[in-house]
Parts: sequence; structure tokens; C-alpha cells
Amino acid sequence: MAAQQSDQFKRVIAHCKEYGFIYQSSEIYDGLSAVYDYGPYGVELKNNIKQYWWKAMVQMHDNIVGLDAAIFMDPQTWKASGHVDAFNDPLIDNKDSKKRYRADVLIEDYMEKIEKKINKEVVKAQKRFGDAFDENQFRETNQRVLANQAKFDAVRDRLAKAMTDGNMAELKTMIEEYDIACPESGSRNWTEVRQFNLMFSTQLGNIAGEAGKLYLRPETAQGIFVNFLNVQKTTRQKLPFGIAQIGKAFRNEIVARQFIFRMREFEQMEMQFFVAPGEEMKWYEYWKEVRMKWHKALGTPDEKLRFHDHDNLAHYANAAVDVQFEFPFGFKELEGIHSRTDFDLSEHQKLSGRKLQYFDPEKQESYVPYVVETSIGCDRMFLTVISQALQEEVVPDAKGNDSTRTVMKIHPALAPVKCAVLPLLKNREELTSKAKELFNELRFAFNCQYDEKDAIGRRYRRQDAIGTPYCITIDFDTLEDNTVTIRDRDTLQQERIPIDKIEGIVKEKVSMKALLMD
Ligand code: ATP
Repeated sequence: MAAQQSDQFKRVIAHCKEYGFIYQSSEIYDGLSAVYDYGPYGVELKNNIKQYWWKAMVQMHDNIVGLDAAIFMDPQTWKASGHVDAFNDPLIDNKDSKKRYRADVLIEDYMEKIEKKINKEVVKAQKRFGDAFDENQFRETNQRVLANQAKFDAVRDRLAKAMTDGNMAELKTMIEEYDIACPESGSRNWTEVRQFNLMFSTQLGNIAGEAGKLYLRPETAQGIFVNFLNVQKTTRQKLPFGIAQIGKAFRNEIVARQFIFRMREFEQMEMQFFVAPGEEMKWYEYWKEVRMKWHKALGTPDEKLRFHDHDNLAHYANAAVDVQFEFPFGFKELEGIHSRTDFDLSEHQKLSGRKLQYFDPEKQESYVPYVVETSIGCDRMFLTVISQALQEEVVPDAKGNDSTRTVMKIHPALAPVKCAVLPLLKNREELTSKAKELFNELRFAFNCQYDEKDAIGRRYRRQDAIGTPYCITIDFDTLEDNTVTIRDRDTLQQERIPIDKIEGIVKEKVSMKALLMD
């Protein structure tokens, strides 16, 4: 199973490179680790993901407005937010392999192994008992499962406590006690665990020393907090209301070996929802539901998405949950939904000496609002979409024989290219000119491609590989009766329809409207 998963992950990475979705940054210099560039199809898909998020959050909500704050902020911002003092990960080095790890991740991987053992028992029993199998009862009574579950719970609680207390020595003790080895070398020769701050810093040109020290923002949220009153006053929004932003964030991640899952430069799509104190849990539940719907509207199967409550809360939160997706390397965080209390606004108020309060006309009083945040990495969403979409399928070829095709079943609203216009033959001017005419018309409505090179079957496969949902073929009948065939990427059905209906049909199928209505 694990090998299969890693094969799928390798396929995704190779496909992304081969078809111009994602390249390693600075590849000609052997690549900069955990930094990636989006190629011609990648940038289209990424833009469509951003658009889907932006429309769902800003366009579809009367009480959410947008913002585009700068990456650089006054360094005091990061003092107030707690990032200078507490945005750390526990770092540990293996002395033999010289590999660097996050101590908490090593322990989480150990927990995952215990979980796998439990699941293996369950699957085995399921096979043995067939339809009569009661999974809950089995989990509650089987001795081996119970022992492993107790072990799992104990490790989880101990890790949560050590992380909350910032107890690095305890993390090291756990790694030793659980006999955790370096995944690379198998060695148990570890350094001490120490805190490592994840912020990148740089220097302002005209001020020397500490005073000129600037940080690359590690999250977009703070740009929203410091602008809270500007936006509220200029838009005259009443609570509850939200501010949404898409932008780059930077983190000097210790372990960065999972393609675009964990990058040092990435993009976030964040929304901070300001509410009256005491109402945060109601809105927290509301946003959990709304965000899950947003994911499921894309057709992601229910069993690939789940909520995962945080075991240890960040310094600013009173509730936090992750939306996890089953990536090819297992269930991992895709999005975070956090109830951030009034922590950020209060701290900025303290440090800046400026009031960041809302005057509530109904209560006739001023207060610092509470905040519920939804925060999703655009790149992780990209990885979710492509790892879900990339499939190998056996389909009949032109002669009716089985052949394997690689297809990206990306939702049509997100697909980089919406339709391809293909003349049946390249060397017949009457076909190519008709096809070009249609292409030149359609390109005003959506992103499409004209392709005349190679046999038609190969052209279909090229479009399948980049996820184009519709291919339009111009053939000799078109010249007679002005009809064309439209081929559906997923069903492979071909339908003959009048040429002047194409724009309307494709436009409707690739529109985000259906997604947003869901
Ligand atoms: P993780 O535990 O995986 O490091 P996090 O809990 O630190 O993530 P948040 O601070 O909640 O992440 O950030 C919100 C979202 O930003 C995450 O859900 C994820 O989608 C995205 N994100 C965070 N760090 C990275 C990264 N290094 N590369 C790509 N996306 C990231």
C-alpha cells in the first residue's frame, strides 16, 4: 500500500514537470530546495483555484471584502503576533546521516505506524468475518487493538503536552524511549532538540543593524489584522464581517521534502472573520461546514476529506481544526480553521498604542472583536487537485483495442485549458481555416487551444494529459452542415452539434456557477 502510494506521488511529480505544471526552482543550478515555479498549465490551474476561492469567499458573501497587503510589514508586527518569540519548530539532527528533522514529526510518524497496525488488524478481521463484521465492537474488544490504541493515545497526549509546554528535553526523551531511528540511515545517534524560528529575515537598505531588520511574512493574516479598522471604516461593515486575502508567505521549514506540500515560499488564501466576543464558537462551526462544502463541491470523495481537531492549540487559539486530505503520502493538513480569540488585535493594540476596537451600535459599546480564521495553502490545494485528478485508465482506442491513457480529471471549472479545437487533418486548408476561425472566436470566451499536429488520437491524449475537458473536431461534415463533434474527456462520448452552439455549451460546463451554487 505504502509503495503504491509513493508510486502515485512520483507519478504526480513527474507528470507536473513533463506537462508544464510545476518545475523545481533554479533547476539549472541543481534546484533550490522546497521552492517551485509554476509552468504554463500550472499557473492557469493555480489562478483558477484562487478564483474559485475568491469568488466563494468575497463575491458570494455580502459581508466579506478583499485586501492585498504588502509582504513587508513593520517588524513590530511580528513581535506583537508572537512570531518572533514563538514561531518555532523543534529541530533535531541525526549525527550520522546529517539529516535534519522536526522532532514532533518524527514522533507523529511513529504514531502513524501504531495507527497502521490497528488498521491492519481491522482489515484482517473484516476479511475473516465478512458481512457479519462489526468494526466498532472489534475495536472496543480486541486485545491487540486496545493495547495499540492505548499506546497511541499515550504518545499523542505526551506529545501535545511537550509541544504546549515548549519542552524540548521531553521531545528528545520521547524519541529515545520510543527508539525512533533516522528514516534515512536507521541511526539513533541524535543531537539535542532545539527551537528553530521559521521566519526569514532581511535588511532595510538605509538603516543598519537590528533596527533595520525586516521579516518576510510567515502568514498573510497579520496584514489583515493591522488593517482591520481601515477596512471596517471605509466599507462601513458591521460585525460580523470578514476580510479575505491571497498572497505569498515564507517559512524556513526544517523538513521540506514533500514537493509543493511543504514549501519555503508559498501562497495562502486566508479569511479573518471578525465577530462579537462570545459568538466565536457559533461562527467557528459555521465556517467548518462552509469550508468543507467548498472542498466537496469539486467532487472530492467524502472518504478523502476529514476534520482533525488540534491536539495542542497555538498560543492565540481557543479552538482549531484542520481539514485533512488523503494525499498520496497519507492524511495531512490542507486547511486550518482557527478561533483566534481577540489575541492578535489586542496585542497590536498594546504594542502600537492605537485602538483597534469596534463600536457596536446595538450594544452601544466598544470592544476588540474576536476572530475566526480560515486559512488554506493555495499550493496544497493545487496538490490536492492534481493528486486526485491524475489517473491511468484503460480505454478502447480508435480500432476498439484496449489502450492505456493518462488523464487529468480536473473539475472543468478549474481546468487550465477549457477546450481544444482540432482540425481532422493538418494538410487540408479548408479544415484548418474553419478550425482557426472557431478557435479565434472561442478564445474571447475562455482559455482554449488550437492543435493540428499529429494524428487526432494523439492530440486527444495530449489534451487528456493536461485535463482539457472538451475537444472540438472539425471534419469534412463540418464543411457540409456546420456541425462539429465535441468529445467529453471523462466519458469519451462524442456528440455532433451545430458549430454556433459550441461557445454556449462549453461556457456553461466550465462555469464556476454550479460550484458556487453547491
Ligand atoms: P503544518 O502543520 O503542515 O506545518 P501549519 O499548521 O503550520 O501547517 P498554518 O499556519 O495553519 O499551517 O497555515 C495555514 C495553511 O497554509 C496550511 O493549512 C497549509 O495549507 C498552508 N501552509 C502552511 N505551511 C506551508 C508550507 N510550508 N508550504 C505550503 N503550504 C503551507
